[in-house]
Amino acid sequence: MPARLLDGVAVANQIRAEVAPEIAAFRARAGRPPGLGIVLVGDDPASEIYVRSKLKSAADAGLRADLERLPATATLSQLLEAVERLNRSDAHDGILVQSPLPGAMGPDAERRIFDAIRPDKDVDGFHPINVGRLVQNRAQLVPCTPAGVIELLERSGIAIAGTRAVVIGRSDIVGKPMAFMLLHRHATVTICHSRTPQLAAVAAEADILVSAIGRPAFVTQEFVKPGATVIDVGITSLSDRATVERLFAAGSKRRDTFERRGAITIGDVHPEVEQVAGAFSPVPGGVGPLTIAILLRNTLTAAIDRAGGAGEAGLDVGDAL
Ligand code: NAP
Repeated sequence: MPARLLDGVAVANQIRAEVAPEIAAFRARAGRPPGLGIVLVGDDPASEIYVRSKLKSAADAGLRADLERLPATATLSQLLEAVERLNRSDAHDGILVQSPLPGAMGPDAERRIFDAIRPDKDVDGFHPINVGRLVQNRAQLVPCTPAGVIELLERSGIAIAGTRAVVIGRSDIVGKPMAFMLLHRHATVTICHSRTPQLAAVAAEADILVSAIGRPAFVTQEFVKPGATVIDVGITSLSDRATVERLFAAGSKRRDTFERRGAITIGDVHPEVEQVAGAFSPVPGGVGPLTIAILLRNTLTAAIDRAGGAGEAGLDVGDAL
C-alpha cells in the first residue's frame, strides 16, 4: 500500500494562520511590524528563488522584510558590516544571511557570520549561543528546517517518543539540530554521515528516518523499514534527462514538469520508497514550505522577545529600545 503523504503545505498554512493574529497584535501594540532583514551575497539562482520566496511570505504575513544585496565580489568584512547594521537596527528583529556564501569569502565565512549575528535576532538559530540552548532544550530561536520537520511529524499525529530515529546528514544547520530535537522528544537517535558503514542497514532500523544529504534519490527501499515514516529534507535541481527518465514513468506528473521546465526539484528519497514507507514527506511540498513558516514564527518570537514579552509591561521595555 502506498505511504500516507505528509502535507507540508497544509501544515505550513496552519502555522501561518496561527501567527497572523499574533503579528497583527504585535503591530497594534508596538506600532510597527516585526522586521526581518535578509542579506543576499552574489547571484546564485537557487538562493535568488529562496530569498524571493522568503520576502514574499514575510510580506504576505504582515512582516516588514528588507533585502540587502551584496555583489559576488563582496568581502567578508563588507558582509560583516551589513550584519552589524542590522544588529543595530531597531526596525529589524530577525536577521538572515542566505547560504551559500561565495567560496572566495573563505572556508570559515559562514561560521564567522553566524557568530556575528546578535543571538536575539538570530532567526536561523545558528549562533553558538542558540545552538547551546538547543542542546540544553531551552532554545527560543530554533533552526527553521528541523523545527519544520518536528511540526510536520507532530501535527500529522506521528508519535516521536519511544521511537528509533535515524538522521542521515550531520550539518550544523539541519542534521545535528534535527537529531537534538528528536532526542528532546524522547526518540532514540542515530546520526549517520558519509563515513557511516552499512548505512542502509542502520537506516532500516528507523521508525522515523530523516534524510538531509542533498543526494538525489539516494535513499532507496533497502534503507526503509516497512511502515516507517520517511522525511525527505534534500533538495536538488535535476536536469539530467536519463536520471529523470529512470526515476519517473512516462506520463507521470514529474515527467510532465520536467518536459515543461527542463529540470525538476527532487529530494534524497527514491520514489520507490513510497511503496514501503508508512508515511512520507514529498519533495516538493513537504519540508520546504515549513522552513519558511517557521522563519516567520521565529521572527515574531524574536520581535516579542526583544520587546520584552507579549504583555503590556514588556512593551514599555520594547518602546525604550
Ligand atoms: P550539507 O551541509 O552539505 O551536509 C550534508 C550532509 O550529508 C553531511 O553531513 C554529509 O556527510 C552527508 N552526506 C553527504 N553524502 C552522503 C552520503 N553519500 N551518505 C551519507 N551521508 C552523506 O547539507 P545541508 O545544508 O545539511 O543540506 C542537506 C540537504 O537539505 C540539501 O539538499 C539541502 O538543499 C537541503 N535543505 C533543504 C532545506 C529545506 O527547506 N527543505 C533547508 C536546508 C537544506 P559528511 O558530514 O560526512 O560530509
